[in-house]
Amino acid sequence: MVSETDGVMATSESVASHEQARLEELESFDVLDTRPEEAFDSITRLAQTAIGTPIVLVSLVDKERQWFKSRQGLDAEETPRDISFCTHAIASDDVFVVEDAAEHPLFKSNPLVTGDPNIRFYAGAPLKTSSGYRIGTLCAIDRVPRGLSDTEEKILVELASLVVREMELRKIAALDGLTGAMSRSNYMTLCNRELARSKRHGHDMSVLVLDLDHFKNINDTYGHPAGDQVLKVIARLCLSELREHDLFGRIGGEEFSMLLPETGQKGAIEVAERTRAGIEALDILWVGHRIQITSSIGVASMNETDHTIREIISRADAALYDAKGGGRNQVQVRF
Ligand code: GH3
Ligand code: MG
Ligand code: MG
Repeated sequence: MVSETDGVMATSESVASHEQARLEELESFDVLDTRPEEAFDSITRLAQTAIGTPIVLVSLVDKERQWFKSRQGLDAEETPRDISFCTHAIASDDVFVVEDAAEHPLFKSNPLVTGDPNIRFYAGAPLKTSSGYRIGTLCAIDRVPRGLSDTEEKILVELASLVVREMELRKIAALDGLTGAMSRSNYMTLCNRELARSKRHGHDMSVLVLDLDHFKNINDTYGHPAGDQVLKVIARLCLSELREHDLFGRIGGEEFSMLLPETGQKGAIEVAERTRAGIEALDILWVGHRIQITSSIGVASMNETDHTIREIISRADAALYDAKGGGRNQVQVRF
């Protein structure tokens, strides 16, 4: 099969790999299957009023479904992708308009047209991210045929870009700008989600808390930018120790934490010890200097009485305190 995308002839193979990259981009927003939020609901309500359709959706086009982050006038949380209008809308940058679906060759026998919610009119503006992927639409739907004026189209496009901006700002805030680790609040949220999952599946789970030793000396000796560079290098090293599903957050100035799913105490101590040794072995180059640093690491594993991640992190913190008291550059565990 050969199809045309954005004016470039593409083979079915490149279409598939673009679709794969598009799905990864969608996944990276961590938005699928999250709860409705006012930031998005206020946009769909505004579109509903400005364009005057009973149904407005923020629809994200996932692999086999379209899932609605925000919906006005519709009960369904998702519908199968193969019958979705939005799949057609994300094929180009333009607003996709169907004035009367019952008369449209592509849609007249679509179950969303012949049955509930009885779509007749559809207008979808693609949600195009800064990386150029169209991950879904802001769409306005009516049960009677109608048209979309130029002004209404402009409004739909502007509101679609607000949806994307909201999602992108959240993504930026979720990562610490200096080190690329998760921000503290994002890390805690994801850790709690992981804790619930581990409990549900009866899996082990462990947490490490890592604090750099005498980090203040580095700032005092080489200056703050040198300290920043050290933090970046340490974060990179920590990330290199982790597996795909491990979580890594910057929870304080020079304090990081890692959550290791499906890992008991023994495995966690091994990761901690490898990380500690890796940091000790680093030579961090800074304008003609070789900076060396060590770290203290506290380890704690989940037990039956833990209900929130805070409880586990506070045990790991206590273990970290032991490591500092024991002379630093070491790993300690709390049960
Ligand atoms: P300890 O071994 O007891 O942990 O000693 P420490 O010097 O590492 O701990 P302390 O808490 O006294 O100092 C931490 C320092 O980290 C103080 C703060 O200025 C510095 N710091 C925090 N955030 C940043 C940052 O983003 N960049 C830089 N360069 N320094 C930071
Ligand atoms: Mg500290
Ligand atoms: Mg410190």
